[in-house]
Amino acid sequence: MLNIGCHLSISKGFTHIAEEALSIKANTFQFFTRNPQGGKAKDLDLEDIRQYNIIAAEHNFAPIVAHAPYTLNPCSDKPETREFAEMVFKDDLQRMEHLPHNYYNFHPGSHVGQGVQKGIAMIIDLLNRILWPEQKTTVLLETMSGKGSEVGSTFTELATIISGVSLKEKIGVCLDTCHIFAAGYDIVNDLDGVLQEFDKTIGLSRLKAIHLNDSLMPYNSHKDRHAKIGAGEIGQEALIRFINHPAIKDLPLILETPNELAGYAQEISLMRQAVK
Ligand code: FE
Ligand code: FE
Ligand code: ZN
Repeated sequence: MLNIGCHLSISKGFTHIAEEALSIKANTFQFFTRNPQGGKAKDLDLEDIRQYNIIAAEHNFAPIVAHAPYTLNPCSDKPETREFAEMVFKDDLQRMEHLPHNYYNFHPGSHVGQGVQKGIAMIIDLLNRILWPEQKTTVLLETMSGKGSEVGSTFTELATIISGVSLKEKIGVCLDTCHIFAAGYDIVNDLDGVLQEFDKTIGLSRLKAIHLNDSLMPYNSHKDRHAKIGAGEIGQEALIRFINHPAIKDLPLILETPNELAGYAQEISLMRQAVK
């Protein structure tokens, strides 16, 4: 069975999200750990989480994905922004221990003109300060479109980050189809070639989750605009080929398409029917 879900709001708690997920035939989902622009996280409701863990086990939920706020930038040129990133990251990982064996996804960062090398070094430093051997969460680096000074729009950059991290077993990658297409990886005409390159540079064993999106912007545009499945430049056919690829089909697939619940339900149903 395909493991598929979408981005949902956590504002009403995990039990509520699980029910929402079930109502659209999702068996995974993604949520922001706090306001996407940053800010303080709500206190965890441990009873809600206990209930959630029961529902998730009962309904065979795949691992879920927590998404860090967009403002988290480990390679800013401002020390206070880097300190904020470290504080949020640490706090989020502590909280994730209540939801063991899931994923914490973050955008590697923007080097804001300091250069990719310096950016990568700062991302590595942060990861080496905050990961700990007993943690139960795998931290995922998201593949980026390469807009502005974003780090992580090439497989090589992600591989370089991973190679600098001591606790490598705590690190994985979340592949965003919109982002890699916009970054210049042609998943429409050369899916096998792209996944082979991923395997060669990063290793497919590091690939833990997928952001399943179409792209409003063309191939290699380095612009990050998600489209509904089939309403973008990747297209429905290519996305169906993508989810059926042996390297992909068992991973949690998270839709981040511009949809309300009903639209997500349609896309989930479309993808479930398209599994070979
Ligand atoms: Fe993201
Ligand atoms: Fe994404
Ligand atoms: Zn995006």
